[in-house]
Amino acid sequence: MHIHTLIIGAGPGGLACAHTLAKLGIKSLVLERKQVIGPKVCAGGITWSGLISRVPGNLAERSFPKQYIRTPLQNVCINEPTPIIATVNRKKLGQFMAKKALAAGATLRTGVMARKISTSSILIQDRASNKTEWLSFDYLVGADGSSSLVRRHLGLASKRLGIGINYQIPGNIDKMEWHLNNTLFGNGYAWIFPHSKSFSIGAYAVREKIDAGRLKNNLIRWAATQGHHLEKHTARAEYINYDFQGWNFGKLFLIGDAAGLASGLTGEGIYPAILSGEQVARTIADTNHNSAVMDSLIRNHARHSQMVTITKNGFLNSILAELVTLGLRSSMIKFKKLEMAV
Ligand SMILES: Cc1cc2nc3c(=O)[nH]c(=O)nc-3n(C[C@H](O)[C@H](O)[C@H](O)COP(=O)(O)OP(=O)(O)OC[C@H]3O[C@@H](n4cnc5c(N)ncnc54)[C@H](O)[C@@H]3O)c2cc1C
Repeated sequence: MHIHTLIIGAGPGGLACAHTLAKLGIKSLVLERKQVIGPKVCAGGITWSGLISRVPGNLAERSFPKQYIRTPLQNVCINEPTPIIATVNRKKLGQFMAKKALAAGATLRTGVMARKISTSSILIQDRASNKTEWLSFDYLVGADGSSSLVRRHLGLASKRLGIGINYQIPGNIDKMEWHLNNTLFGNGYAWIFPHSKSFSIGAYAVREKIDAGRLKNNLIRWAATQGHHLEKHTARAEYINYDFQGWNFGKLFLIGDAAGLASGLTGEGIYPAILSGEQVARTIADTNHNSAVMDSLIRNHARHSQMVTITKNGFLNSILAELVTLGLRSSMIKFKKLEMAV
């Protein structure tokens, strides 16, 4: 079977790509190894300025004009007239995006694993029947997340990785909180993000700075000081790839985490996945498509990666965390500056 554009992975990146291709009249097939579209280890935070035009407001579980930031020296509340961040349920976001892509004309197969890639075809396996099949393509899009098969096929290593650990706890909490503490979380942070009937509590840090086991222990220890006893809950963790080395490889493209486009500084990856998915679709439709939007995203990504490099030094990290928090508090720095939005 021959497909014009094959997309591996039905995360936000793959679905945005399929939807945009369908709107441009190009046939695509999205392959997803999971049976159900959407669920993913994630805190579900979406930046208002970056995503509100792509995700309808009614999909937001909660939205927050106020952000609470704590450092060893400061306890700050930033208040803006419009929401800064909202939270979404990843299953609902995935289902919404899939519905839109299908309605526009894209096709989607779940429970199908991409196994092998050759010059212009891929081997897929149906996970229920174990049946295998070769599909040929004109274009292949790797939207298959941080451990991307397409990325490995291209021979790209993924050395710069963040670790995200999440606990989703039933309950009602009102404040969205960020906790910066070099001793506990290196140049990352811990968060508390309220959802409608639960809240996400977790930590993000770059792997070179702190290993997953230590990050988890520190998270549990810190959470107890906030009144949350995580031992009785299940942690879920995944790597977040920020090792960007390119997105356009001729007939092959990488988007989102597969391309390493998540922020190394904050772990924000939903927005870069959606934006790069849309831009890759436009590039497939028109090889002369202007790359200005991708260029801006890549510049923001590079800025975040530079900050990661600087803050690997614990002393500099502690000073910068205090200075940035002071800047946010005095409105000299806008929260938007810390986002990936272009
Ligand atoms: C703990 C944690 C918290 C996070 N919190 C946030 C947050 O609050 N806000 C934010 O913006 N980002 C957050 N992120 C990052 C965000 O989840 C990712 O950056 C984002 O999901 C990337 O989207 P994607 O479409 O590129 O990849 P993914 O969402 O990873 O989707 C890839 C898809 O490909 C499928 N797949 C993989 N391999 C194959 C294969 N061989 N065959 C078929 N299918 C395959 C997978 O099943 C998956 O559905 C968090 C990440 C973690 C780990």
